[in-house]
Amino acid sequence: METEVLIVGAGIIGLTIARELVNRGCSKILIIEKEHKVGLHASGRNSGILHAGVYYTPDSLKARSCLRGNILMKEYCRTKGLPLIESGKLIVTKSEDELPILYELAQRAHSNGANVELVDEKATREIEPCARTVKCALWVKNTATIDPLRVLNSLLKDLTRDGKVTVLFDCAFFDIVGSNEVTTNKERIRFNYFVNTSGSYCDRVAHKFGLAKHYRIVPFKGIYWKLKGDSPLSKKIKGNIYPVPNLRNPFLGVHFSKNCFGDVYVGPTAIPAFGREHYGIVKGIDKEAVRIFLDDLNLFLTQPQFRSVALEEPLKYWKPCFFRDASKLVKGLEMNHLEFSSKAGIRPQLINTKKKTLEMDFIVEQDSNSIHVLNPISPAFTASMDLAIKVCDLIGG
Ligand SMILES: Cc1cc2nc3c(=O)[nH]c(=O)nc-3n(C[C@H](O)[C@H](O)[C@H](O)COP(=O)(O)OP(=O)(O)OC[C@H]3O[C@@H](n4cnc5c(N)ncnc54)[C@H](O)[C@@H]3O)c2cc1C
Repeated sequence: METEVLIVGAGIIGLTIARELVNRGCSKILIIEKEHKVGLHASGRNSGILHAGVYYTPDSLKARSCLRGNILMKEYCRTKGLPLIESGKLIVTKSEDELPILYELAQRAHSNGANVELVDEKATREIEPCARTVKCALWVKNTATIDPLRVLNSLLKDLTRDGKVTVLFDCAFFDIVGSNEVTTNKERIRFNYFVNTSGSYCDRVAHKFGLAKHYRIVPFKGIYWKLKGDSPLSKKIKGNIYPVPNLRNPFLGVHFSKNCFGDVYVGPTAIPAFGREHYGIVKGIDKEAVRIFLDDLNLFLTQPQFRSVALEEPLKYWKPCFFRDASKLVKGLEMNHLEFSSKAGIRPQLINTKKKTLEMDFIVEQDSNSIHVLNPISPAFTASMDLAIKVCDLIGG
């Protein structure tokens, strides 16, 4: 089989890059996807929030693509009639100690172009009557909620309509042979250009091309609890309530988010996981578990930041511990309002094996005929349509 562009992975990054390539006139694209349908990994297992670019330092790729991606994704949802709830989000403080970080976030948000406002306790109550905050909160107006699966399926339909893009499901990339051919579990495929958008396998695929040598994935599991439909808070919470995060790690902290169907999810956690698809307690622990454990141990011994995540996050499997965190964000939450949800996702977090640090930004590496999207962590769903433009500029350039 032959194609002009071969894309590995039909997550949001692969699909939006294919869309951008078609917009630029490419008419022979093959996407191979190892699963039988879209959305079985991060792109279908996330919180569905379109972020606004509040958290990221202005020099980062995240900052440069998040808000623009948010605007493009909103436009797409409006054009296609897909669910889009523009409810905004509140970032609330648990104590006065967190106020300097809140002000820093307001600063970053302004630099990144986000529409935010510091609001006092009274205004906070008007926006979200149940939210708790100390002195003030940050009201982020660009934040919105979408249905990730509807977005993925809509993109798939658009792409495959006129034959310029073919998506081959149940087809897994295995290896590269020479410079223009790959082996898969099906047939060999020849290509002119190769795009790696394989999500939590991005490092493994890039290594086959001799790239991303200093990067390896250490997966973190995001589990969610959910407000029972008949709990009073499930009606009262209007949108999204987030804590002030620790800016030195890439996770935003357990938060409340109301999805497009009115369900309020609480989560996700960032629990060190032992496989790239380790969604269950044991299910998904794979033969890389020992390697991942050793990487985790190394980080644990050398990185105070990772140490605190590794010690605190696994406790959130335990309801009282999860409840203790969640109840700091809202008033009136009782333990029996929460039920465990089967929703779980893996954050494909890259570590830099040279520096022994967690990478905070998206990373793109390329050679003469391939490009690799690495560290596609949150907010990559939000950023995807803008990131696709940047990746295609690099392909073109
Ligand atoms: C719990 C959680 C919550 C999140 N919340 C948000 C949020 O609210 N907002 C936001 O913007 N972002 C959020 N994110 C991040 C966002 O979901 C991801 O950054 C984004 O979906 C990454 O997309 P992707 O296409 O790179 O990866 P994926 O969706 O994982 O797609 C990669 C695809 O490649 C396929 N693949 C892998 N290896 C091969 C192979 N060898 N051959 C063929 N196919 C292969 C996989 O099957 C998969 O379908 C969240 C992530 C998690 C885990």
